[in-house]
Parts: sequence; C-alpha cells; structure tokens
Amino acid sequence: MPIRATKRGEDRTPLEGMRDVLICGASFAGLAVARELTGSGADVLVVDRYEIGERQTSACGIPTEWLRTMGLIEAERQRFDSLLMHTPHGDSRFRLPWTFSTFDYRELCELLWRQCDATFETAKVNGRAAPANGGGAVAVDTDRGTISAPLVVDALGWRRLLASGDGYQPPDAPLSRGLEVHPGGSGEDLEVWIDRRYVPAGYGWSFPAADELRIGVGSFDPRFHVRATTELLAEDLGSDRVRYQGNWIPHELRRATEGGVFFAGDSAGHCLPLSAEGIRTALYFGIALGRELRAVVDGRQSREQAAARYAAFNDSHEWKFRWMLRVQRLVPKIPPRLLGPMVRLLGAKRFVDWSFRRYLQIAPPSFALASAHDQDGAREQQDDADHALRAERDLV
Ligand SMILES: Cc1cc2nc3c(=O)[nH]c(=O)nc-3n(C[C@H](O)[C@H](O)[C@H](O)COP(=O)(O)OP(=O)(O)OC[C@H]3O[C@@H](n4cnc5c(N)ncnc54)[C@H](O)[C@@H]3O)c2cc1C
Repeated sequence: MPIRATKRGEDRTPLEGMRDVLICGASFAGLAVARELTGSGADVLVVDRYEIGERQTSACGIPTEWLRTMGLIEAERQRFDSLLMHTPHGDSRFRLPWTFSTFDYRELCELLWRQCDATFETAKVNGRAAPANGGGAVAVDTDRGTISAPLVVDALGWRRLLASGDGYQPPDAPLSRGLEVHPGGSGEDLEVWIDRRYVPAGYGWSFPAADELRIGVGSFDPRFHVRATTELLAEDLGSDRVRYQGNWIPHELRRATEGGVFFAGDSAGHCLPLSAEGIRTALYFGIALGRELRAVVDGRQSREQAAARYAAFNDSHEWKFRWMLRVQRLVPKIPPRLLGPMVRLLGAKRFVDWSFRRYLQIAPPSFALASAHDQDGAREQQDDADHALRAERDLV
C-alpha cells in the first residue's frame, strides 16, 4: 500500500488570508514558477492536494540536458542515446543527437523544492472564490479556506480549475489519454510501438528506469480506452500489471492568462502534441512565468504588463504546437503496411539529427540557464532560434 503523506485531520488547520503569490499545483510547472521567485523576499505560498512528489504524474522521461541545466541530475535513473521504434512491419533504431533520461519523480520534486524558499501547504483547490476586496487580488477556494493573492498561478493540470469560462471536459475536448503500469524490471532501450493492435491513433511505450519499467499506451483519440491495451502491451513484454498511473493529456495550447490568473503546464495546454512530452515544456513555461512574476515582485513591471508579456510568449509558440498537432493527426492516416518502411526512412541519421534538434529547440534546455533578470536575453535567443525554425519550415 502506498504511504499517504498528505496532512489529515487536525493537522489541516485553516489557511486563510493574503499572500504575495499563490501557486496552485506543486508538480513540474508550479515548482518551476516558485524556483524563479527564490530570493525575491515575496511571501510565496505553494499548495497541492498531495505532498510534494507524493503522486507521480508521468513516465518521467526528459532530455538529459534539462536535468543538468536545472540542477536535477541526481534524480536521473537511466540514460538513452537511441529510441527503438517498433511497427508491425519492422523495427528501426533512431540514434538521437541528444540523450534522453528517465528520472525518479519524488526525488526530482524534492530537488526542485530545495531550490525554492516558498512555503508549502497541502490543500485541495476547489476553484475561484468570490472576488476579495482590495487591490485586484484573486481569491481561491480551498478545503482549508479562501486564500487571496494579487499574483495567482494555476499549475493544477488539464482541468484548469481557476479559469472562469473556457473549461472543457473529455471526451469532447482536445485531450489525449494515457495510462501506464510500473512493474519492477529492467531494460536497455527506450522503446515506442506504433501498432494499431495497441492503439489506432497514438503509441505504446516502455521507459526503463533502473529497477522499474514504465509501460503504457497513449491515445490521441480520447474515446479510445487504453486500459486493455496497456495491459496487453505489459503482457506481451512479460511484465506485471501493477502500479497504474494515468491521466488526460492536453494537445492544444490554451490561453496563458485569464481573469487575472496565470496558467502554466498542462493547465495551459503546454504538453506537446504527437510526443505527449509535457515535463520540459511545463518547466520551460513555468520558468518564463516565474521570471515575469519576479519582475512584478521586484517592482520592475505591473501585473498587467506581466500578463501581456507572458501571453505573448505563450502565443509565440502556437505555430510550433500547431505543426506538431498536424503530424499527430497525420500518423493514424498512414496505411499500416507503409509504416515500417516510413519509420526506417525517417530513421536515417541525417533526418533524425535534423528533426530531433529542431524538436528540442521548441523548449531548449539553455532557457533554464538565463538569469532570472535576463528574461529579455533568453527571449531574444529563443526568437533567433524560432526565426531559424520558421525559415526551415518555409523551405519544407
Ligand atoms: C501516462 C502518462 C505518461 C506521461 N509520460 C511523460 C513523459 O515521460 N515525459 C513527458 O515529458 N511527459 C509525460 N506525460 C505528460 C506529463 O505528465 C504532463 O504534461 C506534466 O505532468 C504536466 O506538468 P504540470 O506540472 O502542468 O501538471 P501535473 O504534473 O499534472 O501536476 C499537477 C499538480 O496539481 C495537483 N492538483 C491537481 N488538482 C488539484 C486540486 N484540485 N487541488 C490541489 N492540487 C491539485 C496535482 O496533485 C499535481 O501535483 C505523461 C502523461 C501521462 C498521462
């Protein structure tokens, strides 16, 4: 039985009043925002329904360089320099131009938290509360009382609980669904299956993480139930069907600010379509948002300026997400007998180098290195990279 660390009973004292910054959600996006506010002197409160790192939310795969640049490499469990693609008509090994790592969720969250000086409390967020008086503060209703702050971040995942009007529900919403099991075991390869036996539109995966495998199936079509085929894949691999973990995965970018609230990570649709990679983007947009909020706290800009700048930053990525979504929609249309030869063709070294370098550039690890006060420098670098990407896209 998993040990539940979350505060219960009389430990759940009321949590009310005004803070400088309230961050709802203590996973990748929320912790990345809090990290950028370290040393600002602001009264920053982070809340989550679970203790930090208590509930793993993914297979925990990320480009290794993101772990390095964020000072999180200790959480790494296994590193891969290739991706083994399986199709019913043949396999292909893609030699990656950069390495990919799996990590331990709890350890990574703890390492991130050590880089923060905010306060943390477990509390379940219910939604927005009636607007509080004074200074344009946003009020948030939690099971431990109403908490208000002029700067409020929703890093709560796809439900986007603090939005006031554009909520959506599966299966009609642009959401994929993913489920995985975490049996004990080991493996050498990062493996992906594009096989309609497991999912008509989507893919299956096995991500080894030292002494554990993370075996799952993701469907781009929210109506396709992935439980039976996740179990089938685990069975095909001779692995136990234990420790299930699953969720909806957004595959469309959403508005980054709304009604005075800032959104980052899955709540803003920051998970990349096609690959369903949402950790580095949650960190990336979380950092960008944290830097904008830091400038407010330091008195260098107003909340409205921060909202405008963060929204513009978010929107400048829209075309990249749209392109990934196009490919996501294209893959299920490819006739199965062509998949094997196509995957082999795409596995050519030059193409893999080119495409994976561009793919990393969507949320590059170097972004984490720019200083909190050099948001403009980081943006300029990103603009230059975008310019090159657009030029290449126009050539294709
Ligand atoms: C099966 C599966 C495997 C995946 N594997 C990968 C992978 O290997 N690599 C990758 O890059 N991406 C992966 N993803 C996508 C990735 O998990 C998400 O994109 C990423 O977790 C988004 O981070 P986040 O911080 O926005 O949200 P989350 O990680 O979902 O965190 C949201 C936080 O909010 C808290 N919360 C939610 N509701 C409330 C509430 N009402 N009150 C208080 N707290 C609340 C939660 O407890 C949680 O801590 C996977 C997704 C799934 C479903």
